[in-house]
Amino acid sequence: IPEADRRWAWVEVDLSAIRHNTQAVRNRLAHGVRLMAVVKADAYGHGAVPVAKMALNSGADYLGVATVDEAIELREALIGAPILVLSQPPAEAIPLLLGYKVMPAIYTADFAIAYAEAADAFGISAPFHLAVNTGMNRIGVRWDQAAEFMHQVGFHRALELVGTFTHFATADCTQTLDFQIQTKRFLEALSALRMAGVDPGIVHAANSAAAIRFPDVHFDMVRLGISLYGFYPCPETLTTIDLKPAMSVYARISDVRTVPLSDGVSYGLHYRSRGAHTKICTIPIGYADGLRRSLSSRVRFLYNGALMQQVGNICMDQCMFEMDPYAHGLRERREPAIGDVVTIIGGDGDNVCTVEGMCELLNTIPHEVCIDFGTSRMPRLYH
Ligand code: PLP
Repeated sequence: IPEADRRWAWVEVDLSAIRHNTQAVRNRLAHGVRLMAVVKADAYGHGAVPVAKMALNSGADYLGVATVDEAIELREALIGAPILVLSQPPAEAIPLLLGYKVMPAIYTADFAIAYAEAADAFGISAPFHLAVNTGMNRIGVRWDQAAEFMHQVGFHRALELVGTFTHFATADCTQTLDFQIQTKRFLEALSALRMAGVDPGIVHAANSAAAIRFPDVHFDMVRLGISLYGFYPCPETLTTIDLKPAMSVYARISDVRTVPLSDGVSYGLHYRSRGAHTKICTIPIGYADGLRRSLSSRVRFLYNGALMQQVGNICMDQCMFEMDPYAHGLRERREPAIGDVVTIIGGDGDNVCTVEGMCELLNTIPHEVCIDFGTSRMPRLYH
């Protein structure tokens, strides 16, 4: 039995949207600039292997992940493209990095030397990217110590500096001063490396926002996460590029009842029916599936082309909505029935429920909403 038939709540991923988005950014890059598809966190909840394969097929050259296990999943799916772990893993993972040919980001001398020595013992090289902290203060060697760092570890013959990168803290912000300061520091680090005779290799800095807004920082590669999945990283990018969201989320009605005036619904019975014959529909999706409890009584779903108010507390595995027979956009006059499809994220008729709309209710960013729905409880269909 297909997974989506065993559970009446599922995610659909439109891989042609991944292709479209990869190409949309690719078209803005100068010839020779590489494109890294950032597929960490199971490709932001979209499924790392299918997304990575589609991105690589559509113009991506490199893959970025957060953990060694994420990289191994890609290698075990026979993906041969270069993979960078975007931060420095625990030293215990060194044999796996070498065995699976996965590059780490490096920023401590201890790790660099342990990595080089392990590679040397196998008679192979130890490729890595140097992470430079230019102001975000998350990871990396300080920009004014990058050359010194390479001097400290560079004696080791196995070490191979394949790339040098930094990460912007404010590429999606309207004010660009901090972005400019980070850029200036990164350029200083690069020239200090070159002055010291160190080739920085593939230079990269831009996430989606910077890649779309600031061609000056494309350098040799851009690292695309959120734009690959079809979301605009900030309002400034809305008119400059056409992106298509790849994820939609659906459920089927699993129960329907008519409740009398002032009857309560769900834990706490906080919602009370306002009519004598209120139709309450249940769908089997809850906060364990990514539909956050703090959306209770605030989010709306699409049924039969029209927006319906979710009512009562969202439970772990289920939630309820109120059928409004007069809702704008209803396609046909019919009673809701068990098995009918409800759109949680996506379009139906003239209406659409967007990830961005959910983000506004949750005060968060699309990354988090997609990752929430990417839980392994939710079957995923690709088309
Ligand atoms: N590069 C690094 C180092 C990251 O951590 C991330 C994601 O957080 C990205 C690139 C991709 O960023 P975005 O999703 O904003 O494109």
